Amino acid sequence: MKAVAYKSKGSKLELIELPIPEPKKGEVRLKVISCGICHTDMLCGVLIQSQRVPGHEVIGSIEKMGEGIDTERFKIGMVVGVGWFGGNHCTKCRSCLEDQWIHCKHQTNCGLHYDGGYAEYMTCPEDALVVIPDGMDPVETAPLLCAGVTVFNGFRNQYIKAGALVGVQGIGGLGHLGIQFCRKMGYEVIAMSYGNHKRELAMQLGANHYVDMSSKDCVEKIQKIGSVKCIICTAPSASALPGLIDCLGVNGKVVVTAAFPEDFSASSIKLIDGSKCVMGWASGDSRDSTDTIHFARLNDIKPMVKVFPLEKAAEALENIDKARFRYVISFLPESRLNSYKINERINKN
Ligand SMILES: [Zn+2]
Ligand SMILES: [Zn+2]
Repeated sequence: MKAVAYKSKGSKLELIELPIPEPKKGEVRLKVISCGICHTDMLCGVLIQSQRVPGHEVIGSIEKMGEGIDTERFKIGMVVGVGWFGGNHCTKCRSCLEDQWIHCKHQTNCGLHYDGGYAEYMTCPEDALVVIPDGMDPVETAPLLCAGVTVFNGFRNQYIKAGALVGVQGIGGLGHLGIQFCRKMGYEVIAMSYGNHKRELAMQLGANHYVDMSSKDCVEKIQKIGSVKCIICTAPSASALPGLIDCLGVNGKVVVTAAFPEDFSASSIKLIDGSKCVMGWASGDSRDSTDTIHFARLNDIKPMVKVFPLEKAAEALENIDKARFRYVISFLPESRLNSYKINERINKN
């Protein structure tokens, strides 16, 4: 089969030939239909110890099942997804006993601990699988398995009341989905970006307000709108975080969903005065992705995507910072690919 892989730690992605993998006990083999390209795929190239195929936003059909798969639930030919949570949770550790599979020390990440979706075929354990409902578009569903679940799950676990004022900071791969999810979850949404060039897009995606966070009076503007209960921070940086804390209302929180290299500092007085907090959020497991996809389907939430063939995966990942907003590798026939045009997929709110 054809695959795109890092041949060693720190190397560049290369198109290579690999044997079609055999599913072991408790695993299935997928024929990959599409795979989203994510920033984290670059990190995989640095973290791996040996050759690895990245890709953790995979949609594929079950082609072969290893011993022990629940055949009541999974059938040959069924379309499924695999996200960053790559399964193998142990069921016994403290995190598993608290039902937090994503924090299990034994859980694996697809495309990091085993070969992922930048390939014609891959294998994965059963607990990583997300059943994709009939009729969902394989290209537009792929990014929901990482970017989508991160924002949806990050928000729904804050237990913010419907109708509350929330912020989505950063309008990129995560943020453009975050605006859509938050609006459909029943919140009043402030889109927060830098400069004014994303204002129109943010409003088209469903934001109620737009604030240019590079303007001097951005905090006052936000405070004038109301008391912000939660800001999902999709473009974090050490310099952005203190300003976001200032934007929060009483009992407000900043939820950081993406990693950044530097440490940040925050004023303890500002956190105490208003009982505010800054917290991190780690994506979600296969059950959370199932819920994300169900919610997205019910509410017509879709990422804006651009499609690449496998052969162009390396080029797409190198240029990911220019993406508006998710790049997806697709094995669909050429005739299907032309239908994915950026800007056609924006929700009509
Ligand atoms: Zn990702
Ligand atoms: Zn565990």
